[in-house]
Amino acid sequence: MSKLWSPFVKQLVPYVAGEQPKMKRLVKLNTNENPYGPSPKALAAMQAQINDDLRLYPDPSGEVLKQAIADYYHISPAQIFVGNGSDEVLAHAYHAFFQQDKPLLFPDISYSFYPVYCGLYRVEPKPIALDEQFQINLADYQQDNGGIIFPNPNAPTGCLLGLAEIEALLQNNTETVVLVDEAYIDFGGQSAVSLVDKYPNLLVTQTLSKSRALAGMRVGLAIGHPQLIEGLERIKDSFNSYPLDRVALAGAAAAFADREYFEQSCAKIITSREQLSEQLTSLGFKVLPSAANFVFARHPQQDAAQLSIQLREQGIIVRHFTQPRIAQFLRITVGTDEQNTALVEALAELLNKQ
Ligand SMILES: *Cc1c(COP(=O)(O)O)cnc(C)c1O
Repeated sequence: MSKLWSPFVKQLVPYVAGEQPKMKRLVKLNTNENPYGPSPKALAAMQAQINDDLRLYPDPSGEVLKQAIADYYHISPAQIFVGNGSDEVLAHAYHAFFQQDKPLLFPDISYSFYPVYCGLYRVEPKPIALDEQFQINLADYQQDNGGIIFPNPNAPTGCLLGLAEIEALLQNNTETVVLVDEAYIDFGGQSAVSLVDKYPNLLVTQTLSKSRALAGMRVGLAIGHPQLIEGLERIKDSFNSYPLDRVALAGAAAAFADREYFEQSCAKIITSREQLSEQLTSLGFKVLPSAANFVFARHPQQDAAQLSIQLREQGIIVRHFTQPRIAQFLRITVGTDEQNTALVEALAELLNKQ
């Protein structure tokens, strides 16, 4: 603490990111990165940007990337906003839409950045409990609100909502922004982007960090009605006109254009996720049905915190949250087959020893 800080900085409770350890040869299954790396075409496009033009500012509106996303989803660039990771896009959305007199609704077990942004933008949070099966029940969100935000599939549970349920919510909630955070939608869900033409208060965010393996480049996006996009652009242009650099813009556009590589790596991860879920189930774990690139699992006879420490001793890191209700779960990123096997073998050995 410093007395030089603006007074409200003392009250902030910042997000704690998953660890990025320096140790080599780690089986790193803790932050939902993609084990297969970016499209070779994206890498080539980024390398081509490393030249003397870097002395010039990038395009402030990111048109090449908006066009590539527009082509992918068959929408208009005016329906697209791009930013420095979807975390930044989410932050701008709070600023642009959620500073209302009424509270923001979001699941009690969800992405832990949502309450953090409430602190930063002075938005009143109203967490809504997941049901007994750890599912989001959207009927619970049909109440007075200043906005609604949830991930689909949810994190860290991996559980997916169908589009019909989301549409039912939108039919009854027309006066505030409904933000669907689709960080993991490409691993088996149906995107709500198909609903944006029909519902002008729907905003969908996505990231290139997971399904397109560009977490290190920091690129995220939002899709919605042009008036929502204009609100986001107003915030962005009052904050940082150039959130995406030349390298990131070119790489992200090329990643969207390379559908074949994207589809292959997502399909591979989905197959591995199903295998991993089965293997964990055979070891006695209860695994929630996942539509993401991670699984959320607990073992009825084992303490999750203890297991995560023991795995770490063997160079395997997974994510453990100490929050009530989920303190006995581990969130495990789906890795390569080799990494998943290393995890399953280590767990089998640990369980044998008990
Ligand atoms: C990873 C993640 C994000 C953030 O992605 P970035 O684009 O890397 O900032 C947003 N929401 C959820 C639910 C995530 O898991």
